[in-house]
Amino acid sequence: RLELKNICKDFAGRQVVTDLSLSVAPGQVTCLLGPSGCGKSTTLRIVAGVERQTSGELWVDGTLICGDGIRVPPEGRSIGLMFQDFALFPHLSVAQNVAFGLTGSKSETTHRVMELLERVGLSGFDAMYPHELSGGEQQRVALARALAPRPKIMLMDEPFSGLDDRLRDGIRDQTLSVLKEEGTAVLLVTHEPHEAMRMADEIALMRGGRIVQQGNPYNIYNAPVDKAAAGFFSDIN
Ligand code: ATP
Ligand code: MG
Repeated sequence: RLELKNICKDFAGRQVVTDLSLSVAPGQVTCLLGPSGCGKSTTLRIVAGVERQTSGELWVDGTLICGDGIRVPPEGRSIGLMFQDFALFPHLSVAQNVAFGLTGSKSETTHRVMELLERVGLSGFDAMYPHELSGGEQQRVALARALAPRPKIMLMDEPFSGLDDRLRDGIRDQTLSVLKEEGTAVLLVTHEPHEAMRMADEIALMRGGRIVQQGNPYNIYNAPVDKAAAGFFSDIN
């Protein structure tokens, strides 16, 4: 379980994240949804450990990983990342890409790689190279690569925005089912209400660095906290 407690972040005296608290359970997708510049990516970067909060604490499974003089480095946080520009290593095969972060024996590694390729629907693609794959296939390899070391937490920042409209919903659904099978706690950033409605168990609606409403998608859609929140969802049908 990932917990953010009272996270604040200033850049040169300007506060871009204010008193943000939320938690994500294993197997659950929590979505940070909000307009451009509201602080979504900054929040994710703080959790990833590439940016440090000005105040507040981060906890994973009851252990403080950042705050109060403690700072676990990014590689020690059991976190997988998937961003929009999820570049695969072009000179490595699909199997080598997925195996990249794995440290176990050769047979364990092969087993995990094959298991994940099957899960993302790419059995038989192991010897191919990224340039031989479609955008959607590359995206699924990136998902397999991020999940290979069994991270407790997966951070995704607009991971589907580079994809063709036609493919996007299919890949969203498939990604979601793989994440659920793996039991990973997911923090997903998007500015698209449709994506949040489709994927999230819990939505945290952000504006100006704050969470203005939090709840399940059904409740947020049906009982928006104010006019601005209602307007944000109005283009969904
Ligand atoms: P988008 O949907 O456009 O990706 P976002 O919600 O992810 O937006 P952030 O990238 O978190 O927004 O940025 C929030 C605010 O913090 C912005 O006003 C941005 O200019 C500012 N900001 C982000 N990173 C820095 C930085 N390194 N230095 C100064 N200001 C920053
Ligand atoms: Mg962003």
